[in-house]
Amino acid sequence: MTIATYDARHLIEAEHVSKSFDSAKSSESVIVLRDVSLRVQSGEMVAIVGPSGSGKSTLLYCLAGLEPVTGGAVKLFGRDVSGLRRNTLAKLRRDHVGFVFQSYNLIPSLTAAENAGLPGRLARRRGAVAAAQESLRAVGLGERDRFLPGKLSGGQQQRVAIARVLASGASLVFADEPTGALDTRTGEQVLSLLRDAAAGERSVVMVTHDLEAAARADRVLVLRDGVIHAELLSPTSDSVLDAVRAAGEEAPAA
Ligand code: ADP
Ligand code: MG
Repeated sequence: MTIATYDARHLIEAEHVSKSFDSAKSSESVIVLRDVSLRVQSGEMVAIVGPSGSGKSTLLYCLAGLEPVTGGAVKLFGRDVSGLRRNTLAKLRRDHVGFVFQSYNLIPSLTAAENAGLPGRLARRRGAVAAAQESLRAVGLGERDRFLPGKLSGGQQQRVAIARVLASGASLVFADEPTGALDTRTGEQVLSLLRDAAAGERSVVMVTHDLEAAARADRVLVLRDGVIHAELLSPTSDSVLDAVRAAGEEAPAA
């Protein structure tokens, strides 16, 4: 689908976003995000860090249009997602949004190559199959293209999920702990791919608890109790560590 004219600098605009979930135990709802406002420019890589339970994944889902917000608004490409019809939102996500889930979410009955090529095929993009093979090679899995997810390690499945997003041509890439299951060297490889992906018309928003990974971003947002506690421009691993400590988290083991 084509995107209407919008301020092309800002692929994502979140304005005073709040999010709460109904509690199973009591009549009170659980507030997970409070008054979060942020913008993501095209070509930018933004990292979100913060203690476990601070709302990082929820924020990512809201920004990607996967979870409705309770208050405020999320605009993608200048369009308020809560005002879109289901089908329109589904198409917008299919054509322009890629998501690397913490749990990979690969389709068990499809091979690595078929999984990586699926978004492109669903969007009827020409060259989807070739793009998938290329992305699998880029994440170091060119030889495993015919493997089913069940025959791959957690780290390999995570790399297939990343290949899937890279092959999709999505201009908004979201990744929840994309290096969580990877060893240092492979994590570094994947991070470089995401770093390179954030250019031109494409942006990357990544949740991570890896300080080195966060420091590769253009900007780091520190979340605490559902609030943006700090924003770091030109982050370094030291400045991210200081900010995360200040947000009340123990320093993660190196
Ligand atoms: P993080 O990714 O920073 O660890 P999450 O966004 O996963 O944090 O969760 C933040 C809080 O929201 C947690 O207290 C979690 O229990 C709660 N939460 C997340 N998703 C749901 C849900 N679907 N229903 C109820 N509570 C939820
Ligand atoms: Mg999470």
